[in-house]
Amino acid sequence: MTTREMRLAWRRSLLVLALMGAGCGSEDPAAAPESKPHAAAPTGAAAIDDERLVGADRDTENWLSHGRTYAEQRFSPLADVHAGNVDSLVQTWGFSTGLTRAHEATPIVVDGTMYLTGSWSVVYALDAVTGKQLWKWDPKVPREAAKKACCDVANRGVAVYRGRVYVGTFDGRLAALDAETGAVEWITLTVDPTQSYSITGAPRIVKGQVIIGNGGAEFGVRGYVSAYAAETGALLWRTYTVPGDPAKPFESKALESAAATWKGGEWWKIGGGGTVWDSMAFDPELDLLYVGTGNGSPWTRHIRSPGGGDNLYLSSILALDPDSGELVWHYQTTPGDNWDFTATQHMILADLRIDGRQRKVLMQAPKNGFFFVIDRATGEFISAENYVTVTWASHVDPETGRPVEVPGQDYKDGLALVRPTAFGGHNWHPMSYNPQTGLVYIPAQEIQGAYRLDDAFEFRPGEFNTGTDMNVFSTLVREIASGHLLAWDPVAQKEVWRHPYSSPWNGGTLTTAGNLVFQGTADGRFVAFRADDGKKLWEVGTGTGVIAAPVTFAVDGVQYVTIVAGWGGAFALAGGDAAAEADVETDGRVLTFALAPPFPSAKDVESLVTDPSALNESAKLYHRFCARCHGASGVGGGVLPDLRKSQPEIQAAFKDIVLKGIFTGKGMPSFAQWLDEEDVEQIQAYLRNQARSAM
Ligand code: CA
Repeated sequence: MTTREMRLAWRRSLLVLALMGAGCGSEDPAAAPESKPHAAAPTGAAAIDDERLVGADRDTENWLSHGRTYAEQRFSPLADVHAGNVDSLVQTWGFSTGLTRAHEATPIVVDGTMYLTGSWSVVYALDAVTGKQLWKWDPKVPREAAKKACCDVANRGVAVYRGRVYVGTFDGRLAALDAETGAVEWITLTVDPTQSYSITGAPRIVKGQVIIGNGGAEFGVRGYVSAYAAETGALLWRTYTVPGDPAKPFESKALESAAATWKGGEWWKIGGGGTVWDSMAFDPELDLLYVGTGNGSPWTRHIRSPGGGDNLYLSSILALDPDSGELVWHYQTTPGDNWDFTATQHMILADLRIDGRQRKVLMQAPKNGFFFVIDRATGEFISAENYVTVTWASHVDPETGRPVEVPGQDYKDGLALVRPTAFGGHNWHPMSYNPQTGLVYIPAQEIQGAYRLDDAFEFRPGEFNTGTDMNVFSTLVREIASGHLLAWDPVAQKEVWRHPYSSPWNGGTLTTAGNLVFQGTADGRFVAFRADDGKKLWEVGTGTGVIAAPVTFAVDGVQYVTIVAGWGGAFALAGGDAAAEADVETDGRVLTFALAPPFPSAKDVESLVTDPSALNESAKLYHRFCARCHGASGVGGGVLPDLRKSQPEIQAAFKDIVLKGIFTGKGMPSFAQWLDEEDVEQIQAYLRNQARSAM
C-alpha cells in the first residue's frame, strides 16, 4: 500500500462512520457529541460542515453546494412540484440586483437563506421565502478590470461552509464573509494582478479547503488551481495545469512529463493557457477532486507548439489528490486543442450500469461536441459520441479514447469552417442528470466557427491573443447559430429527445424527482418540461435572457424553484445579430416560484375557521340574526353599535331590547318572532366571549 492508498482506506472508513452516524442515531461514538442534550447546536450556514456537504443529497430541503452535491448532478429529490401540477407554479417573489450584464449564479440555499452573486462579483443574502435582502457585499471590483474579461464580468456563485460565505471576485481575490452579516472575515489575492487573470467560477469546499481557479487564457496566462484554508485563507497548495519555462525546474513530475508534449514553440512566454475557470467535482469515497482545464494560449497549436504534441494538460479532466493537489490521473478531451475547445464544462459524477457492469463514471459534454463517459476512479475512457454536429473529428477511437481529427479542420493551410466553435456545443451553462430517467439534460447549441491562422501573430500581453483571424471568426459566426435542450442517454450514448429554441446561449438545467426539467432561455422565458419525454408543461416570462441554472429547495414544507435571470456572457456580447435575436432587457433579477394554493375544499374551509367558538350554537345564532347589521364575529363596522363594547346598562336591558323592542325607535325592532330568552342569553354569551378574546 502506498501512503496515499493507506490514507484513502482510512478516509473511507471515516466516511462510512459519518454516513452511518447521520443515518439513524447509531451507537457510533463519533456521533455522540451531536446528540448531547441542550448543546447549542449551530444552525443555518454555521452548521454546514464536511459531513453535511458529503451528505448533501439527503439534505433534500437545501441546495448546499454549487451542483447541489459533490457529484454535481443538479438533481433534486423534491417532488411536491411535479409533472402533474407544475402548470400551477406562480411567482412568489422577485428581487432586482440593480446590476446589468451576465448573471450566471447558482444560488446556495441553507435553511431558508439564499446566497448568490450578480455581475461584478456582488454577493447577496436573501430570505428565501420572501426575497427580502438580508445583506449585500460589493467587492467594488475596479471597472477597468473589464478589459480582462473574455466573456463578461460574470460570477457563478458562492460556497457556504461553517458560518461563512466564500466568493472569488472578478479581479482575482478570494473573500470569506460572515454568513450572518456579510462582514469580511478574510480576503486574499489569488493572482498576479499585473497579468490578465480573472475569476468567474464558484469556489468549492473540499475537506476544509476553498478550491478556486481562474480564467484569462485568451490574454496569455498560465492556468492553475489553488486550495486555501477555509478558516484562515492561507494558501495550502497550488497546481499548475501546463508546464512553465523548461529552463527552470518543473513544479512536479506531472508537469515534467507534460512538457514533453509541447514541441518547438515558446508557449511559456504566451502563458500556455489551461485555465481552471469553472467546473469541479469531488468524490469523497475515492478521495479525488476533479477539475476541468481550458484552452491553449493562444488558441492555435501552430503557434504555441509548432512541432505538434498533445499539449498536456490543456482541455483535460484532471483528478487531483485533494490534500496535496498532486495529479492522480488525467483524460484529455481535445489533444492538441486548436479551437478553444475547453474541458471546463460541467462534470457530473454518477454510477451507471454499462455493458452489465456497475461503473463509477464522470460525464462531461465539453465544447468540442463529444459527450464523454470516463471511469472516475482511473480516468479510463469508456465511451464518447457527438451530441451536436462535429466536423473537426470523425469520432473518438474506442481503443485509444482519442478523437480522430478530420484533415483540413486544423486550418493550417487556410480557412476552415468548424463545428462546434469556441462558443461550444455546450458551454459553462450547467447540465443536469436525473437518476430516475437516466438522462442528462444538456443546454446544447449548434454554432459554426470560422478559423484562419493569424500569420502576423505577435504576442501582446493583455490583448486578445488567439492566433486566429478574429475578423473572420467574428464575421462568420452568425452563419449557423441555434440552440436546443437535449436529453441524452449516457449509457446508450444517444439522443432521447430535444426541444428547439430560437437562439443559442440558453440557461443551465435543473432536474427533479417530480419528472421535471427546468431551463431558462435566451429569449427571456423560464420553462418546465416532462423529464422522460420532453413535453413542455409550463413557461413564464423572465423579462431578460436567462443563462444561469435554476435551483429548487423547500422551507417549512413548501417547495420553491428559483432562477437568476440576467442576459450576458460570451455569446451575448460577441455573437452579433445572432445573439441580438434574444431581444431582451438586461437588468438582473432573482425570481422564485411555488405552487399556487389550490382552491380549498369544503373540508379545508372548516379547518380554516380557527376560532372554535365560531362553530358553536351561540355563534350560529349571532351570525344568523345579528351579524348583518352588527358585524361578523361581533365586530361592528362603525355604523351601528359594536355589541362587544356595550355599556353595563345596555347589557342589563339586552333581553328587553331584543325581545320587547324597547329600542324600536332607534331602528332596533323586536326579534321575538324568532328568538326566545334562552337564544338571547346564548347570543349575549357569544358577545362576551368575543369581547374577552379581543382584549
Ligand atoms: Ca476560452
